[in-house]
Amino acid sequence: MKIKQKILFAFFSLFVLIVTGNIAFAQKKDKGSSKKSAAAPVKQALSDEEIDKKVKELLSKMSPEEKVGQMTQVNLHLILTGGYGNQKGDIDTAALRKAIVDYKVGSILNAINHAYTVDLWHNIIKQIQDVALNKTANKIPVLYGIDAIHGVTFTSKSVLFPQNITMGATRNPELARLAGEVTAKECRASGIRWNFAPVLDVARQPLWPRFGETYGEDTYLVTQMGVASIKGMEGNGDLTQIDHVASCMKHFLGYSAPASGKDRTPSYIPERQLREIFLPPFAAAVKAGAHTIMINSSEINGIPVHGNSYLLKDILRGELGFKGVAVSDWEDIIRLHTKHKVAASPKEAVKMGVMAGIDMSMVPNDYSFYTLLVELVKEGQVPMSRIDEATARILKLKYQVGLFENAYPEPAAKEQFASPEYKTIALEAAREAITLLKNKDEVLPLKKDKKVLVTGPGAKSLTSLNGAWSYSWQGDDAKQYPDSGATILNAIKAKIGAANVVYTRGTKFERRDFDIKETVEKAKNVDYVIVCIGEDAYAESPGVIDNLDLDEIQIRLVKALYEAGKPVILILTEGRPRIIREIEGDAKGIVMAYVPGSQGHNAIADVLFGDYNPNGKLPFSYPKFSGDLIAYDAKYSDLVTELSPGKMGEGGYKPQWAFGFGLSYTKFEYSNLKLSSKTLKADGSIKVTVDVKNAGAIAGKEAVELYTRDQYASITPSQRRLRKFKKVSIAPGQTVSVEFELSKDDLAFIGLDEKKFITEPGDFDVMIGKLKDTFTYEQ
Ligand code: BGC
Repeated sequence: MKIKQKILFAFFSLFVLIVTGNIAFAQKKDKGSSKKSAAAPVKQALSDEEIDKKVKELLSKMSPEEKVGQMTQVNLHLILTGGYGNQKGDIDTAALRKAIVDYKVGSILNAINHAYTVDLWHNIIKQIQDVALNKTANKIPVLYGIDAIHGVTFTSKSVLFPQNITMGATRNPELARLAGEVTAKECRASGIRWNFAPVLDVARQPLWPRFGETYGEDTYLVTQMGVASIKGMEGNGDLTQIDHVASCMKHFLGYSAPASGKDRTPSYIPERQLREIFLPPFAAAVKAGAHTIMINSSEINGIPVHGNSYLLKDILRGELGFKGVAVSDWEDIIRLHTKHKVAASPKEAVKMGVMAGIDMSMVPNDYSFYTLLVELVKEGQVPMSRIDEATARILKLKYQVGLFENAYPEPAAKEQFASPEYKTIALEAAREAITLLKNKDEVLPLKKDKKVLVTGPGAKSLTSLNGAWSYSWQGDDAKQYPDSGATILNAIKAKIGAANVVYTRGTKFERRDFDIKETVEKAKNVDYVIVCIGEDAYAESPGVIDNLDLDEIQIRLVKALYEAGKPVILILTEGRPRIIREIEGDAKGIVMAYVPGSQGHNAIADVLFGDYNPNGKLPFSYPKFSGDLIAYDAKYSDLVTELSPGKMGEGGYKPQWAFGFGLSYTKFEYSNLKLSSKTLKADGSIKVTVDVKNAGAIAGKEAVELYTRDQYASITPSQRRLRKFKKVSIAPGQTVSVEFELSKDDLAFIGLDEKKFITEPGDFDVMIGKLKDTFTYEQ
């Protein structure tokens, strides 16, 4: 045991040195190169006042049609030869002129489910800008927008980072910032200055197919990671710089809690929860300077958000003070008529959406929005003031991203593409996320001289490692991935030598038995069995499921493998917690890899064989039963109301693994929880310190989490709420003192009036690890 630990420690220390060295290098080099490139074509940003003046002048020269055109965003296929069928990006010049000259379109989005090279992107955008600048009255450049969700989805050979849910497990906002920064650089290198990210939805419904696009189930966690990502993309806010893009916080508001769990279906959220759980990430993002926002396609309490002026005006503009562009989601204005049935005609839908506060309509399949809105303006049904307001915001954004200085893709930005350091960041993010859920008898890490069977549908799958928005919308087209060898199987072979690895497929992800019998036979002749299970790639509605249980065929594979009698380790690659209760008990090791991105295979192998000490923590509660979906911040009343007679004490929060759970190859001991004062004053703060000792033999990182609990409150308090976290590296035998600061705002909740955050005087528990102390808040 001791020798094993020593070897591990040596490896780990070396590795940490290499990795931290690399990361530091990457940061330095990025900053250096961004400075160099920042000196390139684009001038220093104009001041807000200067931009407003220019916008006003321009607006005064524009016709109503031109203004409405600016508010219109269409999909790329409308200007391609053959439309959706064209994957090569061939522009149809007549269609392009129709869009830009006839319909005066201000923005175009996306790609046709296919990634293009950087050069092809430059070519496409150049052709678009040529028409906008040379064939229109006011020469207003087109703003191109794209989904670069975890790296630049639609540019070939871009670096794909872990999906957000994976990033949430790192508890390391700096990694989210770095991922945002690289994404911005590769996006801008592709000639694109507007990114529809990050997702700031809080994952409260595990069935929801976009769960994996969020940073997790906790508001504070989502806020920290989301704001970091925005800072990475927008830098200091000067978006004329060629290493920045405008971010787009989405999807405002309450998209992530559909009652049915299906995508784009109604949610029922009381205003208190709306404000306490779902709104804060957006409020923080507005403060952080996010330039744009995308609206939730669905409805809350019977009101489609695209037609809800209370949310879009009173809250977003009035309370949050957001000044940027609000863009609709895909086709969602017309859906006020076609799906939601709150508008009796398409025209009424356009009026409703625009009057509720949408500035730009992602129409995106035709020009109906333009035609109808021009009519509405001419008939006086939509006042010119509303059109001017929306257009001014859009023009301002175009100034802010430097389009009026230079509308064309910047050749210098191309140099920022595919820098080798980006992969190091993607690898580090995947490593810091991987969460060790079970390690019975310390089966992990495995020795490198053992024979292993690698099996399961995920073993050779690129798509399950990368998930949605990976070179295509669904991420399911493996042919588009730049490195066909980036699989778990290959990473394990590289780690321990191909001779030590036996492979069979076992099953497909869903339903089909492939070779379960043969797999079990092979399992008998190895030392360990590594089964890669979970979900294949999916995005949005195609990812809808009716059952949170892991597909039955995969359960069958694992159960069959237990019969072979060899220690089984499960590797989970999945964007939401698929229930594995039936196979959890007999597994020796369980490694949660989430959707770890383009370096996920290497990170998994590093953890399995002890080259990396896992430190990820679950960003959600992993349920045990599909009928028992309770978030970690449950109320006390769960213990009462969820009891059935004769089952005293069996209610409450009892997931398979709790939010924040995650094991390490070393042992951390918490002690000396101290408060700087037992009293917190309204205008003051208290310091909370705790000692964390690495009591094991290898170095490790630990995300230290601080929770609080309001002992009594006018609104039933949660049993605990995450208020702060900090990740620290601790050498074996070392003790690190971790300090947090708490003020009254950290304890606030939405009070009886349903609108305002308040902190009520009284006693609060503060909990770190298993330690607890109490202080009193005095107003
Ligand atoms: C998604 C958005 C995305 C948009 C453009 C919609 O279907 O909901 O998240 O930004 O498409 O691709």
